[in-house]
Amino acid sequence: MKNFAYARATNAAHAINLITQNGRAKFLGGGTNLVDLMRENIEQPDALVDVTGLPDQIEEMTDGAIVIGAAVKNSTVANHHLIREKYPFLAQAIVFGASGQIRNMATVGGNLLQRTRCYYFYDEAANCNKRAPGSGCDALEGFNRIHAILGTSPNCIATHPSDMCVALAALDATVHVEGKNGKREIKFDDFHRLPEDTPHIETDLQADELITSIEIPQNNFAVNSLYRKVRDRASYAFALVSVAVALEVENNAIKNVRLALGGVAHKPWRAFEAEIFLTGKAATEENFRQAAEAELKNAKGFEHNSFKIELAKRTIVSVLSELTENGGAK
Ligand SMILES: Cc1cc2nc3c(=O)[nH]c(=O)nc-3n(C[C@H](O)[C@H](O)[C@H](O)COP(=O)(O)OP(=O)(O)OC[C@H]3O[C@@H](n4cnc5c(N)ncnc54)[C@H](O)[C@@H]3O)c2cc1C
Repeated sequence: MKNFAYARATNAAHAINLITQNGRAKFLGGGTNLVDLMRENIEQPDALVDVTGLPDQIEEMTDGAIVIGAAVKNSTVANHHLIREKYPFLAQAIVFGASGQIRNMATVGGNLLQRTRCYYFYDEAANCNKRAPGSGCDALEGFNRIHAILGTSPNCIATHPSDMCVALAALDATVHVEGKNGKREIKFDDFHRLPEDTPHIETDLQADELITSIEIPQNNFAVNSLYRKVRDRASYAFALVSVAVALEVENNAIKNVRLALGGVAHKPWRAFEAEIFLTGKAATEENFRQAAEAELKNAKGFEHNSFKIELAKRTIVSVLSELTENGGAK
C-alpha cells in the first residue's frame, strides 16, 4: 500500500475543507471496503479524511421522517427501535450483509459508496472499464455468474453489492450531501448510476461532496415489509438476487407497494414496472407473477448468469405471497 496522509474531521465543513486541500483524497468511513481496495492497489488516495467523528444520530422528525447520520454504524441502524418498528425490512437487509464485526465498523455513508464485487474489478491483470476506463470488460465473456441482468451496457455488467441500499431504494430515501458549493439533496434512485459509457462514475456525488445523512420519509405501511436475500451460502455472501418489498393490502386489493431488487444491476433496482402493475390489483399469485414478468421483460442474461432472470421473478412472487399471507415481518 502506498503512503498516504491522514486527518480526522471534526465537522462537515472541516471534512470538506480537508478534502478540497488534498489533491487525491478520500473520505474514510469504517474503512471496511476502502482499506481493502487500498491494500489491493485498486484505490490509491494521497490522503484520507476520517469522517467517523461526524454526527452519528438517528432522529425522528415532526413529520415522521427518520434522519440517519452518515457516520452511524450499520449495526446501530439495524438495532434501532424506530427502524425495527417502522421499517423492519431495512433492519433485515443490514443484518443479512457482511458479518457482525464488519457491521459494527461500517458506516451508512460508506455502505452507499462501497464498490462492486466483480472479480475483474479486483484483478489488476484483467480488463475493467470501471478500474481503467477504456480498457474493456472481461466479465462480458468471462465468468459472469454474479453479474447484472438489468441496465447493463457493453462497457460494464458489474452489480452494486449493498443490501441496505435495496431497502433504502424501496423506501424512497433522500441522500443529503454537502460540498464546497453548499448542500443539496439527491433522490435515492438518482444517487447510483447505470454504467452506460462511464462505468467508473458510479454515483451522482462530486469528489468534494460528503454524504451527511439519509432521510427516510414517513411511510405508514412499510411495517409490513420483507427483505429476502438469495445467495450461495447462508451467511457471509453477497446477493445473487435480493428483493425488498413493503406492501399494503386492503380488501384483497393492493393499496400500496414498494419493491426493489439487489444483485441484478449496477445500482439498487427500484422495480417501478412491477409497482405500477400491482397497484389496485388483487393480491394473487397470478398478479405477482405478471408483475415480475413486467419488471424483468428487458432483462438480459450472459453465459453464466441467465438463471438470475427466473430466480428474480420467483423471489418477487415468493416475497409478495409471504407478505400477503403472514402480514409481513414485524
Ligand atoms: C468480507 C466482507 C463481506 C461483506 N458482505 C456484505 C454483504 O453481504 N452485503 C453488503 O451490503 N455489504 C457487505 N460488505 C460491504 C460492507 O457493507 C461495506 O464494506 C461497508 O458498508 C462500507 O462502509 P465503510 O464505512 O467501512 O466504508 P469505507 O470502506 O470507509 O468507504 C467506502 C467508500 O465510501 C466513501 N465514504 C465513506 N463515508 C463517506 C461519506 N460520509 N461521504 C462520502 N463518501 C464516504 C469512502 O471514501 C469510500 O470510497 C462486506 C464487506 C466485507 C469486507
